Amino acid sequence: MSDISIRIEGCAGRITLQRPEALNAMTYEMCVAIEQAFDEWAQDDAVTLVVLDAEGDRAFCSGGDIAELYETGTKGDYAYGQKFWADEYRLNHKIFQYPKPVVSFLQGFTMGGGVGLGCHGSHRIVGESSQIAMPECGIGLMPDVGGTLMLALAPGRLGEYLGTTAARMDAGDAIFAGFADHFIPQAQWLDLIATLEQTGDIARIAGAAARPTPGPLQAAMPDIDRHFHGAALGDVFTTLRAEDSDFARDTLKKMGRNSPLSMACTIEALHRLRGPTLTLEKALDLEYRFTARAMEHGDFLEGIRAAIIDKDRNPKWQFADGAVPATAVAKMLMPLGEMALKLGETGMKIGFIGLGNMGAPMAANLAAAGHDVSGFDVAGTTAKGVSSATSAVEVADGADIVIAMLPNGDILRAVAAEVIPTMRAGTTFIDCSTVDVDSARAVADMAEAAGILCVDAPVSGGIGGAAGGTLTFMAGGSEAAFASAAPLFDIMGQKAVHCGDAGAGQAAKICNNMILGATMIATCEAFALADKLGLERQKMFDVVSTSSGFSWSMNTYCPAPGVGPTSPADNGYTPGFAAELMLKDLGLSQQAAAAVDADTPMGQRALELYRQFVEDEDGKGKDFSAMLPRFETRGRS
Ligand code: NAD
Repeated sequence: MSDISIRIEGCAGRITLQRPEALNAMTYEMCVAIEQAFDEWAQDDAVTLVVLDAEGDRAFCSGGDIAELYETGTKGDYAYGQKFWADEYRLNHKIFQYPKPVVSFLQGFTMGGGVGLGCHGSHRIVGESSQIAMPECGIGLMPDVGGTLMLALAPGRLGEYLGTTAARMDAGDAIFAGFADHFIPQAQWLDLIATLEQTGDIARIAGAAARPTPGPLQAAMPDIDRHFHGAALGDVFTTLRAEDSDFARDTLKKMGRNSPLSMACTIEALHRLRGPTLTLEKALDLEYRFTARAMEHGDFLEGIRAAIIDKDRNPKWQFADGAVPATAVAKMLMPLGEMALKLGETGMKIGFIGLGNMGAPMAANLAAAGHDVSGFDVAGTTAKGVSSATSAVEVADGADIVIAMLPNGDILRAVAAEVIPTMRAGTTFIDCSTVDVDSARAVADMAEAAGILCVDAPVSGGIGGAAGGTLTFMAGGSEAAFASAAPLFDIMGQKAVHCGDAGAGQAAKICNNMILGATMIATCEAFALADKLGLERQKMFDVVSTSSGFSWSMNTYCPAPGVGPTSPADNGYTPGFAAELMLKDLGLSQQAAAAVDADTPMGQRALELYRQFVEDEDGKGKDFSAMLPRFETRGRS
């Protein structure tokens, strides 16, 4: 293939990109050929390292060749692009975890797909002309090829800045941001490559490295951190627009060229990724959720049209005013189920006990991600892609991980006592049910005695979050136990917080749900009051959902039928989250509050109201948001 030269020189596997007239943009064929070479050289003892470089002064690699993606995408063929990206990401992953040193020489532009090729190796060399960037938001994509890993690890909020502005890094900034390792004057590169080919001695690289001049972005970090620390794209725009400075003007100008949906997803993705559970696998999985949908639902085709087809540089972006709703971001980043990116044979054997409203969709998401899941529920319920077992002991037999999603602490203790003795030492028991702290600790003790890792990991996010894979997990247990459970939390949810030792997850959960119970009651009584004041419910929602009264109860799980996103209120208050489960959680919170002498009057009152609703009125079997019809029919006495 004339676009690329793949050969062995001395002890080095050598890859040289040879499309300087196209800034060495990588075609699908080049990607496949490079992967084949990496596979062969991994097995070849005569190859001790791999050296990547490119012809021409202007670019190492300016990105992936996107013209063909446009042609297929505009014909409604999204599968070509999905395969292109999935194969490219597999190559990025392979380079990242390659068993031999991978050295890349990055002159001129290294952008997008070029970053995926050149910036995941073990020795990334930059020189005087290097310009590295992640410009995907400019064509309606989001930073991909594993670039979000580096962006999430970059100092402060530099990742958000680089991802949303597409700003270019010179050599000093690229090293500062974690996209490169060594600055070596370009005049020395040919000699160094020849030495590496002859000797295979990678220590020569550090020997040749010089100190780069610090780049301008490093100096701009106080501005970057101040403006990019917000929770979402809208916050970034708000602070930039409020400031009269060169930095704010220049940044708004750069962002003004890019797709708002792409920028909003970039910020959300970095927030989800940043933290102790970050891996390249996780970054690529999240990126692929976006790219797999980018043609059909994102701005990608419009972005390419404006940039390279019509070249009018006037893309008609969705949400052009920059106000991107959280729901649009969530839709682009939700799990892909069976279409999820598969990087290799990663399937685990998982046993799932309790396939109710929450457990069934959670188990289905694990199966869709390629795990071998078997499930059991006393009620005989099943879940998509999950094989059915006849007992809890059967699902635990041979499992790497057992997950429980059960109604209460007594049932959990009984199930744990049955299955833990049958589990192999070193495997993990994860309880995602909401139970009392004492039960969580008792189960953790049982597990510890049997040499089993244990995590109490109750969830927030409801059945919508369980189905969409967007739950938040609050976890208690050892570091090792949390680490073994984290890859599964990534599939079932969007966030996992390690709250502390055994029981800490349940402590966080009951505090959260005490707030939820009280806010749901407050939301319902406010709707009932608004009715009596003659205020339309839709108007009430429009105001409160964007004012200081907003909450999850109002914005995501609105108790008024026909208002806000679809919720159990639109389904006759069928749970969802049953009122008796909320009563249970409020009981747990007050039990815990009594044990530690905490004053919780709102939690106490919420408990009394839910008890009355479930035990004396008609609340049993209804969703916990059915407090609204309850209040509608009542007066003050
Ligand atoms: P659910 O009642 O729909 O599901 C519980 C399931 O456990 C049922 O299908 C039941 O048959 C099964 N089960 C009971 N005993 C069993 C046993 N011994 N062996 C196997 N299966 C058994 O409840 P859910 O809504 O799925 O909630 C499950 C847990 O998650 C609860 O602890 C709840 O507090 C918590 N939770 C629920 C929500 C929600 O919105 N529903 C949100 C957060 C947390």
